[in-house]
Amino acid sequence: MTILGLNPDELAGCVGCGLCLPHCPTYRVTGLESASPRGRINAMRAVEGGAPISSEFTEILEACIQCRGCETACPSSVQYGHMAETAMVAIATRRSMYRRTVDRVLYRHVLPRHRVLVLGTWMLVLAQRLHIVPKRFGVPHISTSSLRRPLSADALPTVFLYTGCVMDVWQRDVHRAAMKVMQAMGASVGLPGDGGSCCGALHVHAGRRSDAQRLAMAVVASMPGEIPVVVDSAGCGAALKDYGRLLGTPEAMAFSARVRDFTEWVVETGLPKMVPSTKTIVVQDPCHLRHVQHVENSVRTAISASYRLLETDDDALCCGAGGIYSITHPEIARQVRDRKVAAIRAAAGSDEVTVASANPGCAMFLSAAGLDVRHPAELLAAVIEEEQ
Ligand code: SF4
Ligand code: SF4
Repeated sequence: MTILGLNPDELAGCVGCGLCLPHCPTYRVTGLESASPRGRINAMRAVEGGAPISSEFTEILEACIQCRGCETACPSSVQYGHMAETAMVAIATRRSMYRRTVDRVLYRHVLPRHRVLVLGTWMLVLAQRLHIVPKRFGVPHISTSSLRRPLSADALPTVFLYTGCVMDVWQRDVHRAAMKVMQAMGASVGLPGDGGSCCGALHVHAGRRSDAQRLAMAVVASMPGEIPVVVDSAGCGAALKDYGRLLGTPEAMAFSARVRDFTEWVVETGLPKMVPSTKTIVVQDPCHLRHVQHVENSVRTAISASYRLLETDDDALCCGAGGIYSITHPEIARQVRDRKVAAIRAAAGSDEVTVASANPGCAMFLSAAGLDVRHPAELLAAVIEEEQ
């Protein structure tokens, strides 16, 4: 067993060509080799060769947004994301007692517990109304009427909609829009049973693999059967599609094969009837839709049936949100977002622009910069609604 537990063949796969560097958001804003995929891989090699897991090494890995843009760019098919996730496991076990306690509370007692999240969100809503939540935190305006009304599942479902943890309390209206579109397409929509409210994606990124495995097993059990599992969060969808690898069981592999991004399912099922819209939309590709799920074009296929689409010319570089990255590394995240916002405004030719984003984290982070961001489900629900 190596120090970080990395597969030596995977580590040796990087030939140091540097072709990934222009596709790395942290390298683009810092210009530092240590903030590039090649630099991070070399740092992992140094530790596997005997260097200590120092605070400098920890920061090199933690400053990575885990966007996986480097994987798409790499001609040698280096699986950077898997290596970074594995290295983070070793880092997580060496944290200070204080940090381990904070992490345990967040990852074990808040994110997977829906009731705790709902209670915390009501407290957040109160703080928002008292104007004591700093704007830099990027917390969206939370609809109290939506928070009061839980989603209700259809009888005899023909498809599940995965609702997740934070998204189901902060952006439940996106789920309502997705359900409306799916029902208009003739589906009967089921919801996850008890215990399936957190996919574990943030846990994987933080190096808490055993927690992520426990959550993954609960999510699999919460949506039994063989019907499709539709996910309207690109980050959660990428995690659910990776359960086969995370758990390594035939049951998990069969579950992952059922998972579809919302727009992927819409395109596969057959587009709903829509009326043409006069709106023009700039498409933002969430990294976990483009670089991990590789289904970014389904967003374009689904919404271009009604809307005129515009593209950014920044090679779909990350927006900087990265799960909780914008909280742990606010300055780099802001610089990465500034580039994305400039690319979006340039594509639109105006500051007044509507953006399509299939990931709640990206949507909230870009909205906090003043953009009007809509989920593809909301865009589709609006044009179906106009038809009625
Ligand atoms: S990760 Fe791939 S693209 Fe980047 S330096 Fe290594 S081999 Fe080249
Ligand atoms: S995952 Fe993203 S931020 Fe991390 S090294 Fe790769 S391109 Fe850079």
